[in-house]
Amino acid sequence: MNRLPTPISDSTQRKMPPQPNRRLRWLNSDRPLRSSAEARRVDAVVVGSGAGGAVAAYELANAGREVLVLEEGGYYDEATYGDTNAQRMANLYRFGEEMFARGATRSIPVLTGRAVGGSTVINSGSCFRAPGDVLDRWGLDHAEMDSLFADVEEVICVHPVPDDLVGRNGRIVQRGANALGWSNGVIPRNIDGCRGTGLCSFGCPTGGKQAMHKSYLPRATALGARVAARCRVTAVAEGRVEAEWAEVGSRLEVEADAVVLAAGPIHTPRLLIEAGLGPAEHVGRHLRIQPAAGVIARFDNEVRVEGEPSTLQSWYVDEFRADHGVVLEATHLLAETAGELKDWRHHALVGVLVGDEGQGSVEPDGSGGALLRYELHPADEERLRFGMDRGAELMRAAGAAGVLPLDLRLSAYHPLGTAGLGAVCDDSGKVHGTSTVHVMDASLLPDAPGVNPQLTVMALSARAARTLVAQ
Ligand SMILES: Cc1cc2nc3c(=O)[nH]c(=O)nc-3n(C[C@H](O)[C@H](O)[C@H](O)COP(=O)(O)OP(=O)(O)OC[C@H]3O[C@@H](n4cnc5c(N)ncnc54)[C@H](O)[C@@H]3O)c2cc1C
Repeated sequence: MNRLPTPISDSTQRKMPPQPNRRLRWLNSDRPLRSSAEARRVDAVVVGSGAGGAVAAYELANAGREVLVLEEGGYYDEATYGDTNAQRMANLYRFGEEMFARGATRSIPVLTGRAVGGSTVINSGSCFRAPGDVLDRWGLDHAEMDSLFADVEEVICVHPVPDDLVGRNGRIVQRGANALGWSNGVIPRNIDGCRGTGLCSFGCPTGGKQAMHKSYLPRATALGARVAARCRVTAVAEGRVEAEWAEVGSRLEVEADAVVLAAGPIHTPRLLIEAGLGPAEHVGRHLRIQPAAGVIARFDNEVRVEGEPSTLQSWYVDEFRADHGVVLEATHLLAETAGELKDWRHHALVGVLVGDEGQGSVEPDGSGGALLRYELHPADEERLRFGMDRGAELMRAAGAAGVLPLDLRLSAYHPLGTAGLGAVCDDSGKVHGTSTVHVMDASLLPDAPGVNPQLTVMALSARAARTLVAQ
């Protein structure tokens, strides 16, 4: 058995320790940030407020540093995400050419978030620690990483999906895996008061998912960190960033002892390349996306009951992770896929996630955006096809009447690796050849962990921030 480590063994709902202030304090009234182009000095300016940036902001504020977070997206919560899924996507997702990893024969959609809280606002909430063999490959100490993972899990409230929220999809995957004797388990998630709406990727409508704007950012602001929303960093340099602050309608220049880039694995390398910082042969190279596919099966005797509580992703199969780089995860049919199926309530979906060995690249498009190039590596295509065959086998073992034709329809949610530890950054995230510019986001992962990465992004960001503070 090669079961993935489940971080917290008991299945009781863990409550976050009380917080002095659950709402974000945008700008401190005692030291207001001027809306002019005036340069301002802080200890650390953090670019981006997602999984990496929020953790970095908290760790630096917790060490007594004056921290300013600049986030391109707006602040939204369950009252303001939007009335329809289309509105929520327009508010929370990033669109444009950079949504596609382009290859010679195929384009793979790569989804990311743009909001206070970054992609964690729209992610599915699955929380896996990077497995031990991955940490070994990256040369990281298990005890140190275990302690970092535990710290993160406590703040974002990670625990296994409660029994009553596993839902029909999860039960089907569990049943199929058990029938075949494959290693499987309940997915740990960052939820506190989840009601199983299954709408995690449109901004949790009940506030149960402990995304960054519900967990790390309120903690950071309670310690004095400030967050400027709709503030897009346009240029970085040693000890300095420039931004356009749409919320206020002005430009902003900030000077800082540490410039922490956490704009995500697409815009962090884009900003570095535009500034000519870091080793050019590595920055923006080595892009992994962890391509995903799905297998849809029809169940004659099982119907998804309208309104049945069921979390988006509840059950995993890791039987093929170590040897084949493939993990299966129960997930819901996306609205548009469901729309194509007349009797979608009779259908169930299992996702196939691949830790890719193929590498793509990110480069500036010349007008503030980015271009992603990515060729699906033949070995990764083989992994995907293997995973889909196993998904179909699992569905049949669970009693499926039939499996829909297995076409390789790919999408990706986990871009990473574009300014990796070692190749581009040291342990404090400091970019080689610079003295003040650090990376603390998914760019930092040396390669594909083969499991959903948010916990690893947060742990590595905390590690880099603590190393910076210790220095
Ligand atoms: C739909 C979806 C589902 C996912 N599901 C899971 C899951 O279940 N489990 C899991 O582990 N992972 C999941 N992920 C992946 C996970 O959310 C990411 O790996 C993680 O959030 C990456 O963290 P980050 O800090 O690198 O980037 P992000 O969280 O994307 O944050 C980057 C932030 O920087 C901001 N930014 C960019 N450029 C600028 C600029 N110039 N100036 C200012 N701000 C800027 C962006 O607007 C964004 O808010 C999912 C992702 C998506 C999109």
